[in-house]
Amino acid sequence: RQTLDAISDKDPLINSYITVDEESAMEQARVADERIQRGEAVGLTGIPIGLKDLILTKGLRTTCASRMLENFIPPYSGTVAEKLMAEGAVITGKLNMDEFAMGSSSESSFFGPVKNPWNPGHVPGGSSGGSAAAVAAGLCLGSLGTDTGGSIRQPAAHCGVVGLKPSYGRVSRYGVVAFASSLDQVGPMARSVEDCAMLLQAIAGYDPRDSTSVNVPVPDYSASFARDLKGMTIGLPVEYHSAEGVKPEIRSAIQEAVKVLQTCGAKIVDIRLPHMPYAVAAYYVVASSEASTNLARFDGIRYGYRTPDAKDLLDLYEKSRSEGFGEEVKRRILIGTYALSSGYYDAYYNKALKVRALIAKDFTDAFACCDLIAAPVTPAPAFNIGEVSDDPLTMYLADIFTISANLAGIPGMSVPCGSTFHGLPMGLQLLGKPFDESTLFKAAYAYE
Ligand code: GLN
Repeated sequence: RQTLDAISDKDPLINSYITVDEESAMEQARVADERIQRGEAVGLTGIPIGLKDLILTKGLRTTCASRMLENFIPPYSGTVAEKLMAEGAVITGKLNMDEFAMGSSSESSFFGPVKNPWNPGHVPGGSSGGSAAAVAAGLCLGSLGTDTGGSIRQPAAHCGVVGLKPSYGRVSRYGVVAFASSLDQVGPMARSVEDCAMLLQAIAGYDPRDSTSVNVPVPDYSASFARDLKGMTIGLPVEYHSAEGVKPEIRSAIQEAVKVLQTCGAKIVDIRLPHMPYAVAAYYVVASSEASTNLARFDGIRYGYRTPDAKDLLDLYEKSRSEGFGEEVKRRILIGTYALSSGYYDAYYNKALKVRALIAKDFTDAFACCDLIAAPVTPAPAFNIGEVSDDPLTMYLADIFTISANLAGIPGMSVPCGSTFHGLPMGLQLLGKPFDESTLFKAAYAYE
């Protein structure tokens, strides 16, 4: 009740929810109370959790923040939603985001932009901006987002919460609307490292319904918490720390954070990620190519928006897609279609795949001499609403520190760091070896 009241009170300003499921949330809470009274409480019993609005929820509208799916009611739920409910969580509703998760500011939503709870003149980051803002404002105790190129870590940094992108294959993508299938991963956002670990514990694990889910054991993440990092080696990528365009307040926050990790006992070494300057270019070719094929299913016929006045079938496709998708989504579909077209495929898509392989190899080489990598999450604190919304290239370039992890499939985490800059939070990024989320939690917990 308290969470729902906080939503009615504060969300008109923040706009973090697209749909609040008040009736069902109260019913789930009543069931949770009974469970507690019977002494049958499990891990997340009664904990209010919000879901990014691209995670399917049976009977509850799932929009992807798009006009295309404005009235779409899924006939089934995603595995992650089912798993949270099985652990007793109360699902409060569906959280706002960039349309189809394409963006870094949560301004491209059909339902209006999300505001940063620390300062509503600023963006909360994106695309999981609603998931980060709702946690920061106390409008749920934890949330799920998705991270295709930084969409959990970047909004977590901008809103001062903890966010984790798991290794590719760690968490099921079944019932999650696809943006770029080889990069997408669902992950938790919460107020503390411990809460984040509890959420990952609940959603991680093999799912035969997702063919890219990996069948490896899920460790007990709470066992990794320690204050002492003796024996741990943390790498600082020379390329990240000398990258251009990084604001001085970010640089000094990261330097301070690294000192704290050192005080906890970690050894700090320099490492190289030589292909990092090519990551943004490779990512935007791969992600847009996959998006252009994934979004072909929105044809105005099977589900979603259909234009009211089509002359014939082709006109129906054209008008439904023109009217149903926003500007950024159309831009990605065009870039992707171009990169995949015959004659350009080898020059763009194939080339990007080769660069992706080199970026993955950079990490394999780096992890031969360190257990973790520390880096900034973003080059700057959250920008003003409207500042870069019509400058896509500047927006894309701000993903410089997050997208390599998705190209390589490794886990990454954002933990609040530094003192706030003019009231805006910042984040420290930790990157780990594939399926080694435990080491991320260990370092993040000691740092926190
Ligand atoms: N900002 C990146 C993009 O627009 C990442 C988005 C994401 O991770 N979903 O593609």
